[in-house]
Amino acid sequence: GDQDVPYDPEQLRKIQEHPCYSENACHTFGRCHLPVAPDCNIQCNYCVRDFDCVNESRPGVTSKVIRPEESLELVQKVIDEFPFVKVIGIAGPGEPLANEETFETLKLIHEAFPHLIMCISTNGLMLPERIDELQQYGVGNVTVTLNAVDPAIGEKIYSFVNYHGKHYTGREAAELLLKNQLEGIRMAVERKMFVKVNCVYIPGVNDEHIPEIARTVGEMGAYSFNLIPLIPQYKFRDITPPTPAEKREMQDRCAPYIKQMRHCARCRSDAIGRLGHDVQSRIYGTEIVTKK
Ligand code: SF4
Ligand code: SF4
Repeated sequence: GDQDVPYDPEQLRKIQEHPCYSENACHTFGRCHLPVAPDCNIQCNYCVRDFDCVNESRPGVTSKVIRPEESLELVQKVIDEFPFVKVIGIAGPGEPLANEETFETLKLIHEAFPHLIMCISTNGLMLPERIDELQQYGVGNVTVTLNAVDPAIGEKIYSFVNYHGKHYTGREAAELLLKNQLEGIRMAVERKMFVKVNCVYIPGVNDEHIPEIARTVGEMGAYSFNLIPLIPQYKFRDITPPTPAEKREMQDRCAPYIKQMRHCARCRSDAIGRLGHDVQSRIYGTEIVTKK
């Protein structure tokens, strides 16, 4: 767990202002997601790409993509109007690290507002080779979605992986993704970033394996674990998602290995405000698209 990693006091103070890493902060501070990243490089069997990446976001929501330069204006507007926003995150609508716009945005925002906490979420495929850039742009918080630490299980969850111009499927895809996810987490911990692991609870596919995932990342020094109930769609549309009681039970089974995040609100990739009290309509006007 977190006790293995010697975070410096400044980092620990800062994280108290991150609503997703500190349960106290989620009532006081806010975050602003910048929807600059439309493309994805893998196919999860529970994802329909008409909507935001479901590893992080609420299902059935489509965020309008904005350009890196627009995001700079947006952040200025947001912190002027809502000074409690301390965290700027990139969480989609696709996979942040599969879009060069993510890096352009991080650079622009970090240079203009160096005091803000920078945060990204990722499926982990490109994390090892992009992590130094993330660090350079002040990213201190990384969320990696990790649904299996055994490629035999990963293979049932991912249809394909596109990596350096090659298309991988089956076991090979699952092995490649897992290798990069673990290497990326290791490198992030080594750089003293706070690593949150998102894990989708898929009954009959990875459920018996979830405590093993928690144990693995806890031992690696990840900071917190966010269990996400499956949204049944695409190839997993016939799976019954876990009940809230089953989710709590699984969190209790994982708790000995790593701190559980139990207050995730599954935010849109353009969310602005405190968790559960979003204000993006006041920033974007009425242009919010919500599909059912
Ligand atoms: Fe969908 Fe996100 Fe998986 Fe990509 S990483 S397929 S956007 S859930
Ligand atoms: Fe935080 Fe969860 Fe919202 Fe991400 S989706 S900003 S982790 S509450």
